[in-house]
Amino acid sequence: MGAVGFVGLGNMGSVLAANLVQQGHAVVAHDALGAERVPGGAVPACDVADVARRADVVVLSLPDGAASEQVTGALLAAADRRVTHVVDTSTIGVRTARALDRTLSDAGLAYVDAPVSGGVAGARARTLAVMYAATDEACLRVEPVLAGLSDVRHRVGDRPGLAQAMKLANNFLSATALAATSEAIAFGLSEGLEMATMLEVLNGASGRSAATGDKFPNHVLTGRYASGFTNTLMAKDVDLYLRAAEDTGTSAAIAAVTVAIWERFAATEPGADFTRIYPFVEGS
Ligand code: NAD
Repeated sequence: MGAVGFVGLGNMGSVLAANLVQQGHAVVAHDALGAERVPGGAVPACDVADVARRADVVVLSLPDGAASEQVTGALLAAADRRVTHVVDTSTIGVRTARALDRTLSDAGLAYVDAPVSGGVAGARARTLAVMYAATDEACLRVEPVLAGLSDVRHRVGDRPGLAQAMKLANNFLSATALAATSEAIAFGLSEGLEMATMLEVLNGASGRSAATGDKFPNHVLTGRYASGFTNTLMAKDVDLYLRAAEDTGTSAAIAAVTVAIWERFAATEPGADFTRIYPFVEGS
């Protein structure tokens, strides 16, 4: 197997690319912000075309659908490209994943829709959930690369777009639970309860979630607010969920409220760690 290409070395991509290196893959990596983001042991590529020429499987970890479209366009345009498979770990929504799949397959390349969940800490611990959807052939070909990214992988279907649907449903629940937990904690504190006590009780009771079990104890209670995931990206994710739910015609009453809260938070403090939703909700 040749080198694995990697484009997008931000909070998540830098860890995923490092995981590939640690698992013994030769990695050729690029980020628009420069070579200093390339993890140790990976070879810097000067641009996306360079990645396309040096790797047959290319992994993307980009902020949104526009960036994935731009980078896949540059992969396709590269002269003498050897890339045959694109593994997109970015959260870009169902429609964009389907459109990218069509564009790539028209050019004879395979697209593996493979978003991730579990945060930067999960990526480091190799417990990050990689949910993926692609044809049998593409899944077989990229399996060693997916195995290099994380130890936890779920194939959710044979058509790109299905993994995005899975990821959007997950992040809608995660975003709603974190916002609702922020309101519930602020309420309890104003009644005279202590946050640590509330979290202990909630985590042994029916109100528990990733918000009460991870985000609050590790980032809010400690004051760290350093999960490595921004409110801007979460606002994007819940907006993609709402638009996808509207496309399918399924009920989205709660999603509309969740989107409004996250969009307000992202507009007020763009780029803040998403766990800062608690002080935002408490102060609203
Ligand atoms: P980020 O903003 O930290 O990193 C994105 C990187 O992509 C940046 O380094 C940026 O310079 C680079 N980039 C953007 N456009 C580019 C281009 N055209 N060419 C080359 N590089 C380009 O974002 P992140 O937190 O690492 O998230 C990446 C993706 O993973 C997003 O889709 C996000 O929703 C998803 N995700 C992130 C987390 C997390 O905890 N951070 C968890 C699950 C999913």
